Amino acid sequence: MTTSPTSFGPVLERIAEEIERTPGRGRPADYIPALAARDPRRFGMAVAEPDGTVYGVGDWREPFSAQSVTKVFTLALVLAREGDALWEHVGREPSGNRFNSLVQLEYEDGIPRNPFINAGALVVTDRLHTRSGDAAGELLAFLRAESGNPQLGFDEEVAASESAHGDRNAALAHFMASYGNIDNPVPVLLEQYFRQCSVAASCADLALAASFLARHGVRADGTRLLTRSQAKQVNAIMLTCGTYDAAGDFAYRVGLPGKSGVGGGIIAVVPGRCTLCVWSPGLDERGNSVAGVAALDRFNTLTGLSVF
Ligand code: GLN
Repeated sequence: MTTSPTSFGPVLERIAEEIERTPGRGRPADYIPALAARDPRRFGMAVAEPDGTVYGVGDWREPFSAQSVTKVFTLALVLAREGDALWEHVGREPSGNRFNSLVQLEYEDGIPRNPFINAGALVVTDRLHTRSGDAAGELLAFLRAESGNPQLGFDEEVAASESAHGDRNAALAHFMASYGNIDNPVPVLLEQYFRQCSVAASCADLALAASFLARHGVRADGTRLLTRSQAKQVNAIMLTCGTYDAAGDFAYRVGLPGKSGVGGGIIAVVPGRCTLCVWSPGLDERGNSVAGVAALDRFNTLTGLSVF
């Protein structure tokens, strides 16, 4: 069935009912206790229209650990500041590898494949920190402004836990520093990166915060963050790289630019029409929310909204 909804409420209710009946939710990320403790049966989904109208179902107002979903926002903030110069430091090709893989970095001379794998996100955060003096603070101010939620903040327990279990990210950062691709001292960069990952936000917050991508680069207050071309570029990188080594399958099933995080959140964009955020903590083996991908798959099928 394909509908052209004037309101997204009924379609969200239907998806939530279907998800409720679906067994098998995957497993929460277990590399830090704060994520491992989440119940995989939690589910929330929100849709934001470009004018700020939000529809939601389930746990759509519950804050969760945004993790790698934040990589979209730091990328946009850096692109806005330095434009194409960024691409001398990070590529924009799908990696075909896991999000925290080390292997490609050596034979590609310390230039990560794309801004959404951990290595690429470390480069982006490093550049934002050099340019702003406070990468995590800049991200938080942006998310608060776009979501209209001044309560949105870092989860200090998650940030500390990330740091305590951060050997792999530290290895990535040190390795890239050895190629001269990191400006800041690695400990400074890692602190910024772990704070960025620890953002706690709800589906409503993140759907609203991503709306500049549905508005072709324009922020909630009407000012422009990205040019129309840059907004298209970020959407393209989300489509090709936003779900790691599952990006092909995600494009096949969901047909939208999307970005996942190991907290179980996924944001997706229908340019010109709406943004979505779905959350359910159970992950598949590639680090993407099982119920989240299923819900976006159903949204695309039920509404016909797709970039294809
Ligand atoms: N904090 C996680 C990490 O850096 C984020 C990864 C993710 O969400 N995919 O390992």
